[in-house]
Amino acid sequence: MAAIDTLLVHGVVDGDEHTGSVNVPIYQTSTYRLRGLDTHGPYVYSRVSNPTRSALEALITEMEGGTAGYAFSSGMAAVTAALLLFKAGDKLLVSDNVYGGTVRVLDAVLVRFGLRYERIDTSDLALVRRSITPDVAGIYVETPGNPLLSITDLEGIAHICREHGLLSIVDNTFMTPYLQRPLEMGIDVVLHSATKYLGGHSDLLAGLLVVRSQELAAQMNLIKTNTGGVLDPFDSWLVLRGIKTLALRMDRHQQNAAALAGWLRGHDAVARIYYPGFADFPGHEVQKRQASGFGAVISFVLKEGYDLNAFYANLKLFALATSLGGVESLIAQPSTMTHAALTQKEREDLGIVDRLVRLSVGIEDCDMLRQDLEDAFRASRQAHESAVERRNSPC
Ligand SMILES: *Cc1c(COP(=O)(O)O)cnc(C)c1O
Repeated sequence: MAAIDTLLVHGVVDGDEHTGSVNVPIYQTSTYRLRGLDTHGPYVYSRVSNPTRSALEALITEMEGGTAGYAFSSGMAAVTAALLLFKAGDKLLVSDNVYGGTVRVLDAVLVRFGLRYERIDTSDLALVRRSITPDVAGIYVETPGNPLLSITDLEGIAHICREHGLLSIVDNTFMTPYLQRPLEMGIDVVLHSATKYLGGHSDLLAGLLVVRSQELAAQMNLIKTNTGGVLDPFDSWLVLRGIKTLALRMDRHQQNAAALAGWLRGHDAVARIYYPGFADFPGHEVQKRQASGFGAVISFVLKEGYDLNAFYANLKLFALATSLGGVESLIAQPSTMTHAALTQKEREDLGIVDRLVRLSVGIEDCDMLRQDLEDAFRASRQAHESAVERRNSPC
């Protein structure tokens, strides 16, 4: 047990002082009655602030150890708000395996406004240093990366950014502040798709963002209030509710993931596996230093000789669905789902081959998850063998 376990349950705003309700109420209102033309309380209009959303924002700020927090209507709204801290002519260095949507909003929208970017392997700090030109204004990192879980040294990135006067941004979705707190390592802005582990039940979309300084808070206040992609009161309440069990869920997610990763690694159907918890995984030592766990996402390459479609089709517990971080186990094909925005060549250069499979390990019974995969491997082997037989038969 740690202090964060208690913070997650009680939050920063604990219940409601007016009624004694143990939960923060859902303030389903757009506006607030002012006491007079020049006297008003803390709330004026819900795009600016709303008490349910404020309770969530105070909590994520405390969880990340920052100065101010913001709740957005999706992870992508939070990503976009962070990118709006830059201006035309600025160039960003972006981790080469960031979330597909982050690349898409840059290409489809922000590049038109003169923001430029280059994707590089941020796990290589020497390469990061070499890539800094006078127009570089910031570094945007996701660690562990998606879907190959490459690890970037956050203290190293923060250090480089301070040396060069660059803004550092980290997408902390895969870890949550329960496992990793980038601001404490010197990063300027941390953000989440709260759709994933923070919400935790695959029943909402939300984004959270926390800044390190008052100066960034002033800028982010303007961006949030005036672009308006804020989280509504009901979903703010659902995220608060989800966060209460974050510690329990993450512990169980990670326990299941570690067991499955160990088993998959020795399995005949698996050609290659990516999981930061393996002692020989590149970045394992960095991960141990900067986070208190390895997360619950595992990627692996299904071996030739196993039919890919039959593998996905024969899973019963793992649902074929984009997203991750919910209590239920999900499985995805990164090349056609999360990373479809990249070209075939870009994907192959990164190692996102078509036979790469990404698991978001849920909190179900671990033996049943293992059995589900085993059954699908067997069906996939059989499907391949029957296809070979059909091809070889004369009629
Ligand atoms: C899902 C995801 C996003 C986008 O979040 P949405 O809530 O879907 O808008 C951003 N970053 C990462 C790492 C994600 O997994």
